[in-house]
Amino acid sequence: MNYRIGIVRGDGIGPEVVGAALGVLEAVGARFGHAFAKEELLAGGCAIDASGEPLPEETVARAKACDAVLLGAVGGPKWDTLPSHLRPEKALLGLRSALRVYANLRPAVLLAPLREACPLKDEIVGSGFDILIVRELTGGIYFGKSGRTEDGQAAFDTEFYTRKEIERILRVGYEAARKRRLRLCLVDKANILESSRLWREVNARISAEYPDVETSAMYVDNCAMQLVRAPGQFDVIVTSNMFGDILSDEASMLTGSIGMLPSASIGEPGAPGKPTMGLYEPIHGSAPDIAGKDIANPLGTILSVAMMLRYSFNLNKEAEAVEQAVARVLEAGWRTADIALHKVESTTRIVGTKEMGRLVAKEVQRSRI
Ligand code: NAD
Repeated sequence: MNYRIGIVRGDGIGPEVVGAALGVLEAVGARFGHAFAKEELLAGGCAIDASGEPLPEETVARAKACDAVLLGAVGGPKWDTLPSHLRPEKALLGLRSALRVYANLRPAVLLAPLREACPLKDEIVGSGFDILIVRELTGGIYFGKSGRTEDGQAAFDTEFYTRKEIERILRVGYEAARKRRLRLCLVDKANILESSRLWREVNARISAEYPDVETSAMYVDNCAMQLVRAPGQFDVIVTSNMFGDILSDEASMLTGSIGMLPSASIGEPGAPGKPTMGLYEPIHGSAPDIAGKDIANPLGTILSVAMMLRYSFNLNKEAEAVEQAVARVLEAGWRTADIALHKVESTTRIVGTKEMGRLVAKEVQRSRI
């Protein structure tokens, strides 16, 4: 099958990490016989330089015509003094809303070779963890009614969710659990919040449609504690916008470097056999301090490509091949500078962005999956 992918290289280290990830995508195409057409799109600071706006109309129209979009990072000091509607980061919000993505998927995986990067003790981490946080992205308290009283002495924000919003994010969680270890934990504050009780009510109905997935529920304060007490207990966590915002940052800290972590934002499932639109990006920013030096870690972007293969194209074997290739390269001792800081052993070999991309691509080509 042919897939059309929008490529937003963006600013700072964006073009470098995306370049490395595209080499890996090419290796996937060659190894598994797929064609990936690439549509280069301008967004962020480079788009401001070229056209005066962070997200040109043309970018939006062409992105919508793609099957999925891969984004490096946008922003940098050059554009920091512009008024807020002209800031590069506007491009991210604009793209999310134009592509109608409402589910943010953030994995937190501790890879064995990077054990040293995890701040938790050995007895807590055990054999490692592999968590996927599914966060609702377009509703809840960040988008609910907010304001101040007339006298300015009080302010309010509103947590507001419709059954439809809850149902669709839960379905994303259950479908993801089916591609993983078949466990889903709904995280809320149902002992206090009426909106959380609605989440539980909707979940009772939806979970019946997924009898193969084991469901549980946990209060958010307990979950924040359990993530550092026994992270291995979680598979998929589904939660609201604000709880997901906080928990995904907590979970990402458990895995070490910011350069390692991918993310996906996905929308309505495509028709049977058709791709699901998604926006895939590493969680880091444009890192202006290291841009242009060929030292940025491209693994977060490469793992974002693996998420694209799995969640937009349903190419699970191919996604696994990329993830295993990353693990093998790390096991062999290859590191970019950011992940070599934790423990330099005699087998550690430090490489740049391009070389790391080439090593992973080579492993994908050798894959026997
Ligand atoms: P940042 O993530 O760019 O950098 C934070 C620190 O992590 C820096 O020291 C950087 O060198 C390091 N780092 C980040 N990615 C790395 C990688 N792949 N390999 C090695 N080291 C890495 O965050 P920041 O400094 O707060 O923001 C810089 C710019 O990026 C700002 O303009 C900000 O608005 C923008 N930003 C963009 C996005 C996005 O495009 N999604 C996200 C966050 C920040």
